[in-house]
Amino acid sequence: MREHEGVTFCAKCFREAIEDRFRKTAIKHHMLEYNDHVAVAVSGGKDSLTLLNLFVKLESRFPRSRITAVCVDEGIDGYREEALEFARGTCEKLGVEQVVVSYRELFGTTTDEIAGMKLGQTPCAYCGVLRRKAINKAAAMIGATKIATGHNLDDEAQTILLNMLHGDPTRIIRSGPVLRDPRGKFVPRIKPLCDIPEKEIVLYAYLTGTEFQSVACPHGHEALRNDIRSFLNQMEQKHPGTKYTLIRSAEKLRSAMSVGSVLAELHECEKCGDPTTHEVCEACLMLEAVAV
Ligand code: SF4
Ligand code: ZN
Repeated sequence: MREHEGVTFCAKCFREAIEDRFRKTAIKHHMLEYNDHVAVAVSGGKDSLTLLNLFVKLESRFPRSRITAVCVDEGIDGYREEALEFARGTCEKLGVEQVVVSYRELFGTTTDEIAGMKLGQTPCAYCGVLRRKAINKAAAMIGATKIATGHNLDDEAQTILLNMLHGDPTRIIRSGPVLRDPRGKFVPRIKPLCDIPEKEIVLYAYLTGTEFQSVACPHGHEALRNDIRSFLNQMEQKHPGTKYTLIRSAEKLRSAMSVGSVLAELHECEKCGDPTTHEVCEACLMLEAVAV
């Protein structure tokens, strides 16, 4: 038995409950096939390493499936090296193949360099878009059939509000637990931790002896998301269940609106072929802006 925040619990039961929720989320949203090659996006933080751990447990039941950890080096001095070390250690321990791609090699620049350019948006705005592109490229390189990311319930609830406040509600439809192009042009993206709160992921990582990076990125000052995070945490404390309710509301919106028509707006970027709602994708526009 263990104690956490004044609550006594059985560690084994807690671990099994998280593993069960992961499997049930995958089943509920039809995320996986028995022979998938899953590119697990691993940053070296608690969410992605927990995701990797859970996939390794699941994979043992499906001998024709395969997982590869995909790590992205954005070029953030004094930060990313340590995270990649944690990722390498866990991959070694779990016996998972690791592929590392870097912004320098893919895009000819780094997040540190972009941060030094004093462009109109925060470094996170560029870094997040480029990371998505880097993961797409790595997944295509290894022939993955799914891309899995470690977004947890807190991340998802924040993103729903963020999209509303950015005046972009159709993104809520596109950013659900699964993003699958009905025309099959893009590797589907899945978020199997989307029903698990951040606190429970931290506890699971601790109970499974997973070492992860806990220092924050030096460029991580996404002001609006930070405000939303604090707001939602306060709401959750005063009104337990707030985050779940937000997630369920988004699910209802997705089923009420035609997801197909929103995805039909996606087509291939004229420059790189990645999915976009415009002629040229956000990443290509950003790379033009930062080109020296
Ligand atoms: Fe990139 Fe921002 Fe994340 Fe740092 S916090 S790794 S700059 S997205
Ligand atoms: Zn593009």
